[in-house]
Amino acid sequence: MDNIQLTGTAFLGSDFRPENVELTINNGVITDISPARGNSGKLILPAFFNAHTHIGDTVALDTPIDRPLKELVAPPDGLKHVILRETSQDKLISAMRHTMEFMVQGGTTGFADFREGGAAGVSAISSAGISGITPVILGRDGGELTAESAGLGLSNAHRLDSEIEAAAAAKRAGKLVAVHAGEGGIKDIEPAFELEPDLIIHATNFRPQDIRRAADEDIAVVLCPRSNWLLGVTDSAKKPPVRELLDAGCRVYLGTDNVMFVSPDMAAECAFLMTVYKTTPEETLSMASGGFSLAGTSSVIEEGKPANLCVMDDAGLLSLSRKPLTTALTRLGRGYVCQTVSNGEIIYSEK
Ligand SMILES: [Zn+2]
Repeated sequence: MDNIQLTGTAFLGSDFRPENVELTINNGVITDISPARGNSGKLILPAFFNAHTHIGDTVALDTPIDRPLKELVAPPDGLKHVILRETSQDKLISAMRHTMEFMVQGGTTGFADFREGGAAGVSAISSAGISGITPVILGRDGGELTAESAGLGLSNAHRLDSEIEAAAAAKRAGKLVAVHAGEGGIKDIEPAFELEPDLIIHATNFRPQDIRRAADEDIAVVLCPRSNWLLGVTDSAKKPPVRELLDAGCRVYLGTDNVMFVSPDMAAECAFLMTVYKTTPEETLSMASGGFSLAGTSSVIEEGKPANLCVMDDAGLLSLSRKPLTTALTRLGRGYVCQTVSNGEIIYSEK
């Protein structure tokens, strides 16, 4: 593996301190961070981890949202599932590859995907895999126990024996359990907690007792704010209770949810969160990169850590900016990503 050197204003450590540095990367690892001189015109961010996607529904991009949530996406007969059943495996794989490339071009090098379609669905995502991106595949209907799968991605909890058994089997196999809960209401929240999951997706309608429980039981919460607004499950900055989740000490990650409705663009998700929910840029980037822990790795920029990086061209804005991280996330974003580095390899470079 090549030795790489990158120069720019990097956001160092878990507090994302901006410093003008030269990073040296050897064998996939950041081996040296030294002060640099001059302005390179580059910003170096930790790579993004998209903690909740459904990349299979890339096959139906920008489907109009013209009916209730359940009729759009709930299994087995929501519109999305009808479309997926009618889609050939080749088309599915090629569509998923498009989305993975789109993510890499925007500085995302890992994602956690709810993969429908049982074992065949899980192997489709592996077949679509592109070099350098790390998928955490959460299968269902038997897909959760295949070798390629990281665990179970359950649509909702209803206290069915089949769900309880699937969660228990995933745990016995040492895999993750993830479930959507609290998206459209509160009914599925208790049943979700009863599965003792590792991850709860949405939490849009979490009440104070749910927030406390997620914090106490160290259950990570993945928020998908643009999806929640687009799909009409919130119209208030109080839902999901972002500030309360952070203040309670919950592990909170950010995801973009269904690719059919929301582009898997993590910088856009960050900008939306900061605008509507008033999170600081540091809190936001922590949520947008912390999901690497699900894959047993990280994108924190420190000596000795794996090099997972998103490099942006500063478009001449850095010298004018009083808060470079805000500038990176809310002004530059995906359109200015010029290089993506995954485990020390440059997997995308602007032409
Ligand atoms: Zn989802």
